[in-house]
Amino acid sequence: MNKKILILPGDYIGSEIMAEAVKVLALFKDEGEPIEWTFGHLGGAAYDAEGHPYPPSTQQAARAADAILMGAVGGPKYDALPRELRPERGILGIRKDLGLFANLRPALAYEALSAASSFKPEVIAGLDILILRELTGDIYFGEPRGRRTTADGHAEGYDTMHYSAPEVERIAHVAFQAAQKRSKRLCSVDKENVLETSRLWREVVTRVGAQYPDVALEHMYVDNAAMQLVKRPKQFDVIVTGNIFGDILSDEASMLAGSIGMLPSASLDVNNKGLYEPIHGSAPDIAGQGKANPLATLLSVAMMFKYSFDRADLSDRIEAAVQQVLDQGLRTGDIAQPGEPVIGTVAMGDAVVAALRR
Ligand code: NAD
Repeated sequence: MNKKILILPGDYIGSEIMAEAVKVLALFKDEGEPIEWTFGHLGGAAYDAEGHPYPPSTQQAARAADAILMGAVGGPKYDALPRELRPERGILGIRKDLGLFANLRPALAYEALSAASSFKPEVIAGLDILILRELTGDIYFGEPRGRRTTADGHAEGYDTMHYSAPEVERIAHVAFQAAQKRSKRLCSVDKENVLETSRLWREVVTRVGAQYPDVALEHMYVDNAAMQLVKRPKQFDVIVTGNIFGDILSDEASMLAGSIGMLPSASLDVNNKGLYEPIHGSAPDIAGQGKANPLATLLSVAMMFKYSFDRADLSDRIEAAVQQVLDQGLRTGDIAQPGEPVIGTVAMGDAVVAALRR
């Protein structure tokens, strides 16, 4: 049976970068791979078409799909909408609806782009980290939360950090299994010296680790992890952490790789059904100009084949093709050095497809 892919281009540059992803899918389909795809709306585009950022038609298609490819949502056109109709609500809605609790973000430093990074080449050369962030729990969702007035009349805001043992167990399993497929090293990041939530986190991760004796587990406090990531990032392979720490550390790690236009991500459910998207936003400043770098999107397609379809071979081919076009010196504006010639979205997508054909 064909694997069903739902494509949600989203807003602004979304449809430009997604057109390049479709070229790769079409090539694989021509080669006989059992895949098919349909398109849907999410975010502002969904509001425009159907009056809601995550409308019922998209919900249905998303539930029926084996994997979802997303561009990016949001932008100035939608900034004045009421909160519940804002494009970001579409992303939160689909994540929640599909139970996407595990966010995977690789940070890879391409040698050809080392000049674009603000780090010294020797610090990042060969860097290849995978950050796993729990996506549906923690202080972002804990109750109670809100605003109140203290007894002495001051306004006060409060949130609740919260994890249950099963929530930690399921992300820990994903992390140990990811480590097994890589260099068999896992670093769990918490703040166990201060937070009860982190004490439980560390206990549970350690307990789950007993089922993966082939993976070397270490624990690190989040403040130290933030320092180590910029000091000696290559000491890490797979990092697993909670929602808020992961939010911050994964953005920090993305800077190691040089450009936002190069980084893919995956959000998985318990059955490895996933939503795949570049980490960048909808880039309204360059939308409609054919300038957007499609490589983060193509690398998201690679992640889809690896994690949802168990086809590391196709994933490796896409990654190798991306590597090849970079080695050839092809650059979109965001990854070009001053004076270097620049190509557009379509030419970059075509170059990757040509490399895939070779
Ligand atoms: P952004 O990532 O869209 O853009 C930041 C800068 O990076 C811009 O200068 C942009 O031109 C550049 N850039 C981004 N992607 C690029 C690419 N593929 N190729 C070349 N250059 C690229 O972040 P922003 O400007 O803060 O946000 C714009 C909109 O996107 C906002 O509405 C924001 O809420 C939304 N957003 C959405 C997502 C998502 O859908 N997951 C993520 C982040 C931001």
